[in-house]
Amino acid sequence: MKGFLFSTRRHDPQDAQVDSHRLMIRAGLIEKLGAGLYHILPMGLRSLRKIENIIRQEIDRTGAYEFELPILVPASLWQKSGRYDIMGKELFRIKDRHDNWNVLGPTHEETFTDLLSNLIKSYKELPINVYQIHTKFRDEIRPRYGVIRSREFIMKDAYSFHIDQESLNQTYQDMRLAYRRIFARTGLETIPVEADTGAMGGSGSEEFMVPSQIGEETLLLNESRSYRSNQEKTPVVYSDLNVDDFSKINIQDVENQLKKIHTPSTQTIDSLATFLNRDTKKLLKTILYRAYYSDQQIETVMILIRGDRQLHEIKLKNYLGAIEVLPASNSDFENIGSAVGFAGPLHLKKQVRIIFDMSVATNEKWVTGANQVDYHYDNFYPVMISQDWHKQLIDVSLAVEGDLSPDGNGVLMSIKGIEVGHIFKLGDKYTKAMSMTVLNESQKPIHPIMGCYGIGLNRTMATVIEQNFDDKGIVWPITVAPFEIVLVDICKTGDERIRTEKLYQQLIDAGFDLLWDNRDLRPGVKFNDAELIGFPIRLTVGKTFFESGKVEVMIRKSGKKTEIGETQLVDELHRIREQLIKELPKLPTSATS
Ligand code: ATP
Ligand code: MG
Repeated sequence: MKGFLFSTRRHDPQDAQVDSHRLMIRAGLIEKLGAGLYHILPMGLRSLRKIENIIRQEIDRTGAYEFELPILVPASLWQKSGRYDIMGKELFRIKDRHDNWNVLGPTHEETFTDLLSNLIKSYKELPINVYQIHTKFRDEIRPRYGVIRSREFIMKDAYSFHIDQESLNQTYQDMRLAYRRIFARTGLETIPVEADTGAMGGSGSEEFMVPSQIGEETLLLNESRSYRSNQEKTPVVYSDLNVDDFSKINIQDVENQLKKIHTPSTQTIDSLATFLNRDTKKLLKTILYRAYYSDQQIETVMILIRGDRQLHEIKLKNYLGAIEVLPASNSDFENIGSAVGFAGPLHLKKQVRIIFDMSVATNEKWVTGANQVDYHYDNFYPVMISQDWHKQLIDVSLAVEGDLSPDGNGVLMSIKGIEVGHIFKLGDKYTKAMSMTVLNESQKPIHPIMGCYGIGLNRTMATVIEQNFDDKGIVWPITVAPFEIVLVDICKTGDERIRTEKLYQQLIDAGFDLLWDNRDLRPGVKFNDAELIGFPIRLTVGKTFFESGKVEVMIRKSGKKTEIGETQLVDELHRIREQLIKELPKLPTSATS
């Protein structure tokens, strides 16, 4: 392209906390409109389109069909699935002129299922996989990191429909392979990890994570990587629990041992451990939570967990089947006759549901709160609450680095990651809710089962930059650069311009993705912009070219410069292109490789 809109900036934007955000603004790829809202400028759009094309090619290869659905969806569809009430404020809701409520689609399970129920009538038409690449809205509570977490973004979202699990598994694996190929082609190394299935329901799910310091997700992996999981999903495995020997403890024997002890100013587990000079593992932590349910019920629950472990809210929420769980307020403590910092399960004024975390599965005695300021009980045994307490052990503890790997191979280490994609086995939740049936072989109507598969395009683009930059700017992988090659001229005369134009035309005719920066600016400014925007290959034509036909070729990534004669230039550029493609992550050939 001859000339283009450059909107580069000299200074870092004030609100950028991460490099990709900073560089996207400085390179003139995006511009901010408001919180979590970004304009995509022509230079940025070219990259985004390249990512889109890679995604489209790979998803089409799996046999999926591309659609485009309205972004605005009648609220009735979301009410039908039950998510209208569950989704909370992340769901944009708007009323139209007829006073009807609508939502701006944050995802499209409801809409696609509703549509497909009109299109598909027989098992013979299954499996089918449908997708779109389209705008999504989510009123994120904390939009941040530029387009990594924005309120409007583009997603490739696909939904597959199946007659049985085997067919779903097959498509799931095909999509898994497509994802691995997509990310490799954009230059990203991804780790697929097991993910929480939470409110979406469903049986299996993996997130595609790019390891990064700025990642909002925590991944737990063992050394051989035979176990890979999101921290949200990782069960905690204990080596030091004697889980089968509880019958030995008799209530009568232990009740007499219970002793109230004065423990002034020991609201926290650490201060109590210091005061008593005991390991936090010997102290029972009592946590009070409020659970909110979709039928408007609110429940106070008490969680007993070993002093050295943290409660994991998502596990608690999933176990309770709640929409939301929040730490209890001071008044909740008062209501049950307890005291903040000194709570415990004994002698409460009002009974609450008590949840025993796996970590308390031991025969040993504990110190626990006495529900009175500055007092604890020593020699507490869970059997004092219920004979059957050990039958209700639940894992609500946050898995952390150093825990045993749940697959039995070594211990876990933790790394941060950015989630760029997500694949999910949904089951029949949506086909049931949206009343989608097809006739099976014996002409009986059944609900198909589904899978869903998402990739955030803008987040992927930002993540590519997060992984590929230096102090001069972005270093694009050649596959997703706005232009593969930039031609910078240092022309002084009209003749030189004509000569450059000829070279430019020759390269365009040879099919290169080439931008000629023909702005009338000092060479230094153009060089800086070329490096900031990060075109993989830079061609410079100056004095040497006009005198002896030699073009300077510089590789952005290595900084290496060579001079190539005009006659070899086309061949040499093909060779360099191929070399840069070879340097990308290897294309996987099977879903599990
Ligand atoms: P997160 O946990 O980061 O909020 P999510 O689990 O809500 O992500 P999905 O609903 O699985 O995400 O959406 C699929 C993909 O859409 C994500 O993998 C991510 O690439 C992208 N995505 C989700 N939310 C945003 C957002 N607010 N801004 C940009 N991209 C997003
Ligand atoms: Mg989200």
